[in-house]
Amino acid sequence: MEERKVALVTGGTRGIGKEIAKAFAQEGYDLIINYVSNNTDIKSLETEFNEIGSKVLFIKADVSDFASCEEMLKQAIQNFGRIDTLVNNAGITRDNLLMRMKEEEFDTVIGINLKGVFNVTKQVIPYMIKKRAGNIVNVSSVVGVCGNAGQCNYSASKAGIIGFTKSLAKELASRNIRVNAVAPGFITTDMTESLNDTIKETISTQIPLKRMGEAREVAKVVKFLASDDASYITGQVINIDGGMVM
Ligand code: NAP
Repeated sequence: MEERKVALVTGGTRGIGKEIAKAFAQEGYDLIINYVSNNTDIKSLETEFNEIGSKVLFIKADVSDFASCEEMLKQAIQNFGRIDTLVNNAGITRDNLLMRMKEEEFDTVIGINLKGVFNVTKQVIPYMIKKRAGNIVNVSSVVGVCGNAGQCNYSASKAGIIGFTKSLAKELASRNIRVNAVAPGFITTDMTESLNDTIKETISTQIPLKRMGEAREVAKVVKFLASDDASYITGQVINIDGGMVM
């Protein structure tokens, strides 16, 4: 019997990450799901994934902390012995106009969103290189492509992810490892929940498809990029934004 594949999803207990993890579970993967907060109901999530048929290991770790990521990978490999797909999804916003933005707001966002991608990816690639197989999908954002007032920190982190993705794709292509990114637009999750209804209305009218996206619409593209159907795609950024950026 063929061994089950394993996917590691950072920030996988809520929002887009949770839908990505679910999509992989439905595809027959076992899962390592990372999270950071204390209020995550791991038990009920575990049941949800087990019902789909996946073995799942939840690991609490702050992706901005290199040592925590080292410990996370140790646990992941001890339990599963392999990682076939890495999805760097964990991310936060701390929006403010640059005039008002505190150094801490800039550093925290870069630390989690961009350095977090370095911290986790650096730990994972030795296992992929050894197997001469694997793929990585990084979650960027349309604002990393086109910018957004009030998000200098966030858009810089997401633009950084795009540069990281393309460089790593060039480094690892010869080892049969593909590296791609997705750039979602406005997706309904906790992250966009704080926007008031007027802002959401205004945003929706500016989106050619006239609505915000759903987390599962991002998950489907991530699943495609990680699959053999995307075997000739590497170093690419796919916008999932209802046509916001063309
Ligand atoms: P969300 O609902 O706020 O979820 C964020 C996830 O990241 C949570 O699972 C959270 O873990 C995790 N996380 C935060 N800080 C972390 C840390 N230091 N270490 C490990 N995990 C951490 O956000 P979302 O909307 O699903 O966003 C997911 C990704 O998509 C992010 O990278 C975001 O930038 C990107 N994105 C979102 C949108 C959008 O409109 N929603 C658009 C473009 C891009 P806990 O649950 O433990 O707190």
